[in-house]
Amino acid sequence: MEILKVKRDRLKPYVYKVEGPVNFAFYDMLKGKFYQFSPEGNVAELRTILLENGLIFETEGIVPNKIIRQDMRDIQNNIQLRNLQIRLNGSEEDNCWNREKKNGTKRSISLYSLERLHSECLYIPIDKIRIEIEEDDPDKIAYIIRNFNFNCLELFAERGLDHTQLNLYKTMCNEKNVSIATVTKKIVNDFKVEIFNFFYSKFYNPCIGHQIALDTNGVIKSCLWSDESFGNIAEVDLKDMIIRGVFDKTWELSKRIIDVCKDCELRHACDDCRVFALNQTGSLTAKPGYCQYNPYTGD
Ligand code: SF4
Ligand code: SF4
Repeated sequence: MEILKVKRDRLKPYVYKVEGPVNFAFYDMLKGKFYQFSPEGNVAELRTILLENGLIFETEGIVPNKIIRQDMRDIQNNIQLRNLQIRLNGSEEDNCWNREKKNGTKRSISLYSLERLHSECLYIPIDKIRIEIEEDDPDKIAYIIRNFNFNCLELFAERGLDHTQLNLYKTMCNEKNVSIATVTKKIVNDFKVEIFNFFYSKFYNPCIGHQIALDTNGVIKSCLWSDESFGNIAEVDLKDMIIRGVFDKTWELSKRIIDVCKDCELRHACDDCRVFALNQTGSLTAKPGYCQYNPYTGD
């Protein structure tokens, strides 16, 4: 007797489906793209789109397990920082979206604060350092590049940087095999799908997760724009605070516990700004007010 094998559509191993209350989305981890669908569409059309974009395949065989799975144990078990924000000088603490500025006294961070930060972070792996400046400060930037251990450097210069000086920083970073980029403000609705962030965002906040900031006064914060102080680097033991989990509550503000976002099918591609949500609503778990999307209606 001939056994008829039924062909079925399966998601490619690197594709994940995320349901929202109304709409749903497919995340393609290889291309770093997501595709959002409404249930009103026709199933045949949906299948065609999924096939054309390489999200599904037809098989009569064994369904493969997901093969791309970022191992979260490393980040959960090890002490490390994803992002270290340092403001070297300026009079304004600005948020990453250019929405609201807080004017203050023009100040420069002291070299002593940087030295303390360096000694506290000596054995803590740092993925990215983001330096914010109003004016160039070659000595302190050189100090950070030469002494800290990190993988990439982001330079945010409000007034731009002299080309010669920027090239010098690039050369110093190249010598350390560290990538360097000059950055601008974030763009709302700039959704990004990255393998690491997809899994990371299930447990941690996509912005302030494993992030620490140091302002021009030497005050430790979860982000430069935040009012919350974790003490002055001159007086506290930052390494011990990280090890004791003092920042965990902030880092673990994942989209899973943020109002509305927790149900949204775009939650693993979306950025976040907890400080903005807090300033606007008084709640640390409020949906960010700049988002116009309503996942419950799909509009
Ligand atoms: S901010 Fe908006 S788009 Fe992003 S997860 Fe929340 S509801 Fe969805
Ligand atoms: S919470 Fe994140 S996005 Fe918002 S201002 Fe701070 S670092 Fe920027």
